[in-house]
Amino acid sequence: MSEILEKIKEKHDKIHDHFHKSKGKLFIISGVSGVGKNTILKELFKDETLHLAYSVSMTTRRMRFDEVNGMNYYFVTKEEFQKAIDNGDLLEYAEFCGNLYGTPKKFVDEKLKSGKNVILEIEVKGALNVMELAPDAISVFILPPSLEELEARLIKRGTESDDVIFQRLKEAKNELRYQEYYDYNVINDNVNQCVEEIKKIIKSGQKQN
Ligand code: 5GP
Repeated sequence: MSEILEKIKEKHDKIHDHFHKSKGKLFIISGVSGVGKNTILKELFKDETLHLAYSVSMTTRRMRFDEVNGMNYYFVTKEEFQKAIDNGDLLEYAEFCGNLYGTPKKFVDEKLKSGKNVILEIEVKGALNVMELAPDAISVFILPPSLEELEARLIKRGTESDDVIFQRLKEAKNELRYQEYYDYNVINDNVNQCVEEIKKIIKSGQKQN
């Protein structure tokens, strides 16, 4: 190859490398209600080497006593949610146990462009939509050790009434059927181990072989 062609190739490779390094990846994390997603996410966000950005969803669910508007969710009315749908502001949305949940598109686009790895913590229907829209997204389904353990955790959490717990357990059994569509299934038996496993997945930036 002539010297000039080699120089052009070198420059091209550099641009290519830069582009790849500066573009973040999209991660979908799902897991049934009470599986411990919040605890796991808190741990993941402590690790700055993962370059994570958390996508704050919009929801019509009522705010829990320990939640902060704009941090856990953007708590909105049904009308405001509908407006966001009509304006095309949501990447995906779904109904879960009678409430609407959706991912604001702008934040995700901006963070990915800035090189951050964006975490979408969403339920299965929304996750399947994102997998179709963004086939490169890497998906992780967090599993409870057992349904009995899940029930015990939901009761212990004490954030929901008995009938809501019952509804969420019913939904959990339904959601567990979707685990096969995810790139990775990780069991949350031990939080630290589970966190380490997910960190490895994020660092590898690869889908399952
Ligand atoms: P929770 O009411 O327990 O905060 O969330 C209920 C379910 O909604 C969880 O499975 C959670 O992952 C999911 N969820 C939260 N935000 C979104 C979202 O933006 N889109 C979708 N599709 N699901 C979401």
